Amino acid sequence: MLKVLDYFNDHKQTFLDDLFHFLRIPSISNNKADVEKASLWLKRRLETSVSHLKIVKTSGNPVILAEWEPIASNEKNITKSPTVLIYGHYDVQSPEPLDQWISPPFEPEIRDGRIFARGVGDNKGQLFTHLIAIECLTKFSALGLRVKFLFDGEEEIGSPNLDKALIQEKDFLSDIDLVFVSDGPADPSWKPTLCFGARGIVTAQIYLNSANNDVHSGNFGGIQPNPAIDLMSVLQTIVNDNGTCLIKGFYNDLFTPDEGALKAAEELKRTPEMYQKSLGISYFGGEQDIPLVHRVMFRPTINIRGFQSGNVREHAKTIIPKDAVVELDFRLVPNQKPAQIQDLFLNHLEQLKQKSDRWKAMINRCDMTFEAGFAPIYTPLNLPWTEILAQSITEGFGEEPVRIPLLGGSLPLYNLYQHIKKPMYIIPFGQPDQGNHAPNENLMLEWFEKGVVTSMMLLKNLGSRSI
Ligand SMILES: [Zn+2]
Repeated sequence: MLKVLDYFNDHKQTFLDDLFHFLRIPSISNNKADVEKASLWLKRRLETSVSHLKIVKTSGNPVILAEWEPIASNEKNITKSPTVLIYGHYDVQSPEPLDQWISPPFEPEIRDGRIFARGVGDNKGQLFTHLIAIECLTKFSALGLRVKFLFDGEEEIGSPNLDKALIQEKDFLSDIDLVFVSDGPADPSWKPTLCFGARGIVTAQIYLNSANNDVHSGNFGGIQPNPAIDLMSVLQTIVNDNGTCLIKGFYNDLFTPDEGALKAAEELKRTPEMYQKSLGISYFGGEQDIPLVHRVMFRPTINIRGFQSGNVREHAKTIIPKDAVVELDFRLVPNQKPAQIQDLFLNHLEQLKQKSDRWKAMINRCDMTFEAGFAPIYTPLNLPWTEILAQSITEGFGEEPVRIPLLGGSLPLYNLYQHIKKPMYIIPFGQPDQGNHAPNENLMLEWFEKGVVTSMMLLKNLGSRSI
């Protein structure tokens, strides 16, 4: 392994130069020509080391599938070693607002030990750590397991064509034993991080158009209904001030955290004071009788992410607005599915019509829309992979990882999961302040390098294990 590490250290600059080329391609998801360029760049790069390579054309951006055969000739058990799938995405978010970038988003620059560029953390830099690890191991015939890599070109827009591509390429996924993904930032504690899942999400919009026009609130006050007040009435039937969702069936068949998950949550040692200090809050939202750390990972939430009607401050007018709109998001935990939550929500509104003729008329003027969400993913902590992964991360970072049973936020990995149905792990190599999706996105060189070493350790340690 020393030889492999030395090789990486001796060629660090070349690897960085290559990453910079990759980062210079502005592969914003909707910018088809540039995403295509990035896919060709990856193809050229992969061709020199892979055993199999396929560019899967879709009606959007291509999905790239790569595969490396095990080539550690001295390993007797090579045929029994697991097959790993690494998922990464080579499309990026658009960089606006441009005037807030210190250096241009697609001209990577190193300042204060950090690489600044759009996509360096999310996700080109992170996926590149794995590519470097594979290339270095291959060079010394030290890859003791079959590695597959899926490069998604549309992650930032919800991977609309991935499902179809995966159905078509099901053979590629048929022998996977476990999956890992390095994306997003590490835990806010700045410790290396091993995540076992993420909550899902579904968002809903209710638009209530109650009249033709905004009207004088004196001339028509008491006649024209006020859509903001009406929407508030609807909202009060959906969530109470304890943060509890009142939609019938919302909590049915909810996931109960297993022993491993409960223990890991406990070990995070997140105190109320920590949250109060970092958020500047003096009281807590959500379900008051549930421990805080459970509220943020093991429980579903309901949130109003925005509410608009009429005008305020310098634009204020004494009118009855003609419409109001509210947007909600629900974070989902294992066993909950976006489609099921949508149905329950629609059913809830239908039920409200029974309350009175006025309610019926009001709900009839509500237009409900949902954004395609994604379901949660979760891998139990008590599988044998856990200790191998934790050990490899410790070797790479020189520090034990924190174990996060479920990320509070959501990742579009369920699509992939449902085709593989194997353990999935999220091992982010971006430091907590990487600023993904924001101006001045960056990746610390130290984290990048530790990511490469961690990936080498992951592949080495998994490769020497038979299944
Ligand atoms: Zn992203």
